[in-house]
Order: sequence, then C-alpha cells, then structure tokens
Amino acid sequence: MDELSVYRILIWAFLGLALVTLPALFFVTAPYGRHESKWQGPTVNSTVGWVVMESPSAIVFFLCWLLSERRTDPASLAFLFLWELHYVHRAFIFPFRRRGGDKPMPIMVAASAFTFTSINAYLNGRWLFTFAPPYGAGWLLDWRFLLGTALFLGGFAINQHADHVLFNLRKPGETGYKIPHGGFYRWVSCPNYFGEIIEWSGFALLTFSLPGLVFALWTVANLLPRARSHHRWYRDKFPDYPSERRALVPGLF
Ligand code: NDP
Repeated sequence: MDELSVYRILIWAFLGLALVTLPALFFVTAPYGRHESKWQGPTVNSTVGWVVMESPSAIVFFLCWLLSERRTDPASLAFLFLWELHYVHRAFIFPFRRRGGDKPMPIMVAASAFTFTSINAYLNGRWLFTFAPPYGAGWLLDWRFLLGTALFLGGFAINQHADHVLFNLRKPGETGYKIPHGGFYRWVSCPNYFGEIIEWSGFALLTFSLPGLVFALWTVANLLPRARSHHRWYRDKFPDYPSERRALVPGLF
C-alpha cells in the first residue's frame, strides 16, 4: 500500500474517533489540572508533560514543510507561519508561563496527547504541503483564506489573552484557584477554549481542507465537554461566581 492510501485510511479513522470522543468526554473528564483523579497511575511533572505532548505539533508539521517540494509557495509559507505561530508558543513558551507547573500530570494523558498531536500534525502537514492539489499564490486573495485567517488570528488573540489572565491569578509558588475577570471572562468561564475553537475553525476555512476540518472537530470534542466541567466546578467551588457567565460561547452555553 502506498503512503497516500495509508493516509486516506488514517484521516477517516481520525474523523470517526473524533465523533466518538465528543460524546464520551461528556461522561469522562481528562484527569489533569483541577480535574486530576486519585487513580491517575504514574505521573510526570506537568511542565515536562506539556512540552512533550505539544512539541510534535510544531516539529512534525515543520518537517512536512521541510521535506516538501512546495516549500517556497506563498500559500505553504502562510500555512506554516500561522500553524507555528500557535504551536511554537504552545509547546515551548506556554508550559513555562504556567504557574503551579510542579503539579504532576498522569503519563497516560501526556502519552495520549503526544500520539494525538503527532498524527494530527502529520495529517495536516502532509496534506497541505504534499498531497493537496497546489493552492497557488492566488489562494492568498481567496475569501476563504482571508476570512479563515481573520478568524484564526482573532481566536489566537482571545486564547492568548484568556491564558494570560489565568497565569496572573497565581503568585509564584501558588497552586490554588481564583475567579478570573476581564476580557471574555465577562461572558464565559473558558474563553481560552472558545478562542482555541475559533482558531482551528479558522484554520479549517483558510486551508479549506479535510484534515483542517477534522482537527477543528477534535478541538470541539476535547474542549466543549471540558468547558462544561470547568464551569460546573467554578459554580460549585465559588458561591459568588458570576451567575450570568456561560461555559463556552457568550450568550449561548
Ligand atoms: P485551563 O484553563 O484548565 O488551565 C490553564 C492554566 O491556568 C493552567 O496552568 C491552570 O492551572 C491555570 N488556571 C486555570 N484556571 C485557573 C484559576 N481559576 N485560577 C488559577 N489558575 C488557573 O486550560 P488547559 O490546561 O486545559 O489548557 C491550556 C491551553 O491548551 C488552553 O489554551 C487550551 O485552549 C489549550 N488546549 C487545546 C486543546 C486542543 O484540543 N486544541 C486541548 C487542551 C488544551 P492547573 O493546571 O493547576 O489547573
């Protein structure tokens, strides 16, 4: 079987798994951060865990670009820039900006996320830089690219700001939780997740690709149920939690 045939099987399997994972995560919350469980098995320092589990996204995608013959195409360079804008930060900067990073993380969580990010970066990078029909320079003026890029950058800004607010809630050495305020926290409990979903929906549109769409679905599958768990947790823990706040999407849910 050639690589493209294997690729096709992998992308449909990955899509199927996302569709099963979305309902499943309403019943099982990934056991890290505030949802850590007593039965979490062997653990790793969570700063190390974040670097290990997110770095394949930056490295594998970059390698797909490096090994491609379309390296200098303007569309390829734009895809590379936007993806790495998010993932160089997520893998190599974000883990060190978190406070309370000495907390343990289950190795199972880091290992499954490592597998996910490796496959996802391969599926997106290999498609965009090798298997997709060439986009050509004209793609950069297509409405899908322009609107998708605006969504991606808007989502990125919301995600960055929301995470920045969370980091500043703790003084160095603190590990407890406080009520976040400011920006989109006025409307929702998890604007970082809201921004992340907008970002990858934007990426799906700006690449107009099946792997981009599958990744956006995975992001919803991971973050929608978790936002609901966070929201319930905030309401249980803080009696004065702002009652008008929703979990994920302003004004809706
Ligand atoms: P959280 O919002 O749960 O936590 C982010 C950081 O802020 C953690 O260090 C957390 O500490 C701290 N924190 C959270 N709430 C509070 C609070 N009320 N008071 C004090 N500190 C707080 O996000 P995740 O860790 O789940 O995710 C981190 C980033 O990764 C987000 O930007 C998210 O969008 C992204 N992500 C993307 C996924 C995808 O599928 N694309 C999947 C998962 C995450 P602690 O760890 O101690 O709880």
